[in-house]
Amino acid sequence: MNVVESLTPRQGLRVLVTAGASGIGLAIAKAFVQAGARVHVCDIDSEALAALPDGITHTRCDVSREDEVARLFDDARALGGLDVVVNNAGIAGPTAGIDEIDHASWTQTIDINLNGQYRVAHRAAPLLRESQGLLVNLASVAGRLGFAYRTPYAASKWAVVGLTKSLACELGPDGVRVNAILPGIVRGPRIEKVIEDRAAKRGISYAEMETENLSKISMRRMVEPTDIAAMALFLAAPGGTNISGQALSVCANVESL
Ligand code: NAD
Repeated sequence: MNVVESLTPRQGLRVLVTAGASGIGLAIAKAFVQAGARVHVCDIDSEALAALPDGITHTRCDVSREDEVARLFDDARALGGLDVVVNNAGIAGPTAGIDEIDHASWTQTIDINLNGQYRVAHRAAPLLRESQGLLVNLASVAGRLGFAYRTPYAASKWAVVGLTKSLACELGPDGVRVNAILPGIVRGPRIEKVIEDRAAKRGISYAEMETENLSKISMRRMVEPTDIAAMALFLAAPGGTNISGQALSVCANVESL
C-alpha cells in the first residue's frame, strides 16, 4: 500500500458514534459512510435520529444512563463487532462563575462529558480488543487551556485527555489505539449559544464577543464539523495506525504573548 492509499480507511469498517444525530457526530458518521463503513449512532434527540440519512442505524441513548448505554451496545451487536468507536457526546455545560455555579449543572456536565465516555469505553474495550480497533474521544482545546466561566466544561475535557492517555497505555499492548480529538471553535448552533451566554455574562454584544473569540485564532475563522470528521477518518486509516495516546488539536489556535 502506498502512502496516498494509506490515507483512506478500509471498506466495511464497523463504526459506532455517540451523539451522532447532529453536529460533529453527524459529520463523522456521514464521513465514515462515504468511506464505505457500516455506521450505528446514538443520540437523545429522537426526531434527529429519525431524520438520519439511509444507511445509518441508530439507538435512542443518553450516555449518562448506564441502562441506555447497555441497550446501545446490544443494538450495535447487529454490526457483528466494532472496529471504531467515537465517543462524541458532550454538552457545553453552564456559563457561570465559581461563586454562582450550581452543583447539579456541575455534576451533569461531568456525568455526560467524562462519565459518559467511560461508560462507552468500558463496553467498547472487549469489542475493540477483538478487532484491534480504535477508540476516539472528543475532547476540546478547552482540554489544554483555561476557560473562564466554563470551568466544568474545561475540567471535563482535561479529564477526557487523561482518560484517553491512560486507556491508550492500558489497551495498546492488546492492539487497541485510543486518541482524543481536540476541536477548536466549531461552526454550529452550540457555539452560537456559548457566544451568546458569554456576551451576556460580560455585558457586551454578540458581535463583540464573536470578534474577541476569533481574534484568538490565527486564521480568524471557525473550524468546520467536516474538519473534525477528516481527522477521525485519518486516525481510522492505515496511515494512522502508529498514532495512539495523542491529544490531537484540530484548530488554528496559537498560544502567544
Ligand atoms: P452539539 O451540542 O451540537 O450536540 C450534538 C448532539 O449531542 C445532539 O444531537 C444532542 O442531542 C446530542 N446529545 C446531547 N447530550 C447527549 C447525551 N447525554 N447522550 C447522547 N447524545 C447527547 O455538539 P457538537 O458541537 O457537535 O459537539 C460534539 C463534541 O465535540 C462534544 O463532545 C463537544 O464537547 C466537542 N466539542 C465541540 C466544539 C464546538 O465548538 N462545537 C468544540 C470543542 C469540542
